[in-house]
Amino acid sequence: MRKRLVDVLRNKGIKDQRVLDAISRIARHQFIDDSAFMELAYQDIAFPIGCGQTISQPYTVAFQTELLELRPRMKVLEIGTGSGYQTAVLCSLECKVFSIERHKPLYLRTKERLSQMGYRPTLSHGDGFKGLPKEGPFDRVLVTCGAPWVPEDLLGQLKVGGVLVIPVGEGDEQRMLRMERTEAGTFRTDDRGAFRFVPMLQDKVG
Ligand code: SAH
Repeated sequence: MRKRLVDVLRNKGIKDQRVLDAISRIARHQFIDDSAFMELAYQDIAFPIGCGQTISQPYTVAFQTELLELRPRMKVLEIGTGSGYQTAVLCSLECKVFSIERHKPLYLRTKERLSQMGYRPTLSHGDGFKGLPKEGPFDRVLVTCGAPWVPEDLLGQLKVGGVLVIPVGEGDEQRMLRMERTEAGTFRTDDRGAFRFVPMLQDKVG
């Protein structure tokens, strides 16, 4: 089923073989609690994971990961740990992964889940708008919820040459932006199309 999912992603335009390999290694059904959805785990769709949140569609996970152009040992910050599936993809690409989740129950459950699976990211419970100033700067920052604007703190925690991938927009739909920090301290921004995410909420840590 995982092989078939990888074929679907390749047909939809994902080219990075390391990303496809990571998806073929990771058992997505283990990130879904509700047995009603278990059979659909390898379909290219999003699912509810509790607290009104969703596990992202595999295509979206693959697309965002491909945009990051990861190399082993990069320091990566993810905003919106959710189920931990994307976190596992980042870990399996041999990055040093930090991830923040605002929902306490999700944070706790995913921490347990990822450690049982043998992944070793650094997970935090808190507000992703602020990033992790003590751990930065990062090679890559990935936002997996729809941001109303680009948080200044996240830009400030990027290394020179570092990349932020963030879906931005306040309505139902966001634009997927890839922003690269230049030597001059400015940002080169590319728009990579429309996507739909659950909202990134500020000052709502619970
Ligand atoms: N990467 C996740 C996607 C989960 S959906 C996965 O693969 O399953 C996005 C997540 O972002 C939700 O769990 C939501 O609670 C979280 N989120 C929303 N606003 C946030 C914020 N300000 N800080 C941290 N997490 C946030």
